[in-house]
Amino acid sequence: MALAIGAAPCGDFGSFHASPMDPRSDRAGPSIYIYPQGILVNQNGQRFVDEGPGPTDETYENVTREINAQPGGIAYAVLDTTLAKVKHPESVVRSEVPPYQADTLAGLAAQLKIDADALEATVAAYNKACASGTNGVYNEADTDGLCTRGISPRKSNWARPIAKPPYIAYPIISSIVLTFGGLRATPDARVVNQQGDVIPGLYAAGETLGLYYRSYTGATSVLKGLVFGRIAGKDAAESLRG
Ligand SMILES: Cc1cc2nc3c(=O)[nH]c(=O)nc-3n(C[C@H](O)[C@H](O)[C@H](O)COP(=O)(O)OP(=O)(O)OC[C@H]3O[C@@H](n4cnc5c(N)ncnc54)[C@H](O)[C@@H]3O)c2cc1C
Repeated sequence: MALAIGAAPCGDFGSFHASPMDPRSDRAGPSIYIYPQGILVNQNGQRFVDEGPGPTDETYENVTREINAQPGGIAYAVLDTTLAKVKHPESVVRSEVPPYQADTLAGLAAQLKIDADALEATVAAYNKACASGTNGVYNEADTDGLCTRGISPRKSNWARPIAKPPYIAYPIISSIVLTFGGLRATPDARVVNQQGDVIPGLYAAGETLGLYYRSYTGATSVLKGLVFGRIAGKDAAESLRG
């Protein structure tokens, strides 16, 4: 409606905030953030991305876009139950559906409908590359600096072998959390037209504001509802009073 009366667009109308989610779940946001502890394989049983390029919060969107580019738009986080022992399991696995589980990689591959030889070869190559390398960047809170050596794509953190059965896997697809396109507004939340002039009486806050290009900055979506909603409300009230 705002665009129809001449409001200027802002943000990337062709893109969205991508998040790694479990397609089996009935929940609204069944994110799977545990994949950096293991590896991601596509339906061909092959790795395709650095699963641990940096702090997960800062990197999951790009990893998710790589998942979306795989055959069928799906990948599987493969790990063993030792690697899956993380400090806050409920924050890294928000799906209510248990992972696939098997005592052998071949058994896991059968459940995922992946060629068993391909999955075994991928895990073997990855395990061999986990030869206690370090990327030299250690930040205890976010990363561990354990990286692979001699494999492509490399894994820059959490490169520990997947070696102790049972093995588990979570399917992951790219979900749309929010779209990037919206309206252009001034810092006091007033919507502007294509010339940059304020459209009297029209405000934008939260999802109606276009803000993002290429990638989403964590935690800013509720924030832009709160901040610009408050500014818009005050401004509207003041102009009514005036
Ligand atoms: C799975 C998921 C996870 C998320 N995680 C985070 C996070 O961790 N951190 C973060 O900051 N953000 C997160 N977000 C984004 C955040 O939830 C939204 O950006 C925020 O809720 C948007 O608030 P809003 O008020 O702008 O819009 P909305 O919450 O969409 O509110 C719009 C309201 O307007 C109503 N409405 C629509 N049309 C009409 C109409 N014609 N007349 C009257 N009412 C109408 C709707 O019913 C709705 O209630 C997440 C979103 C999703 C989906």
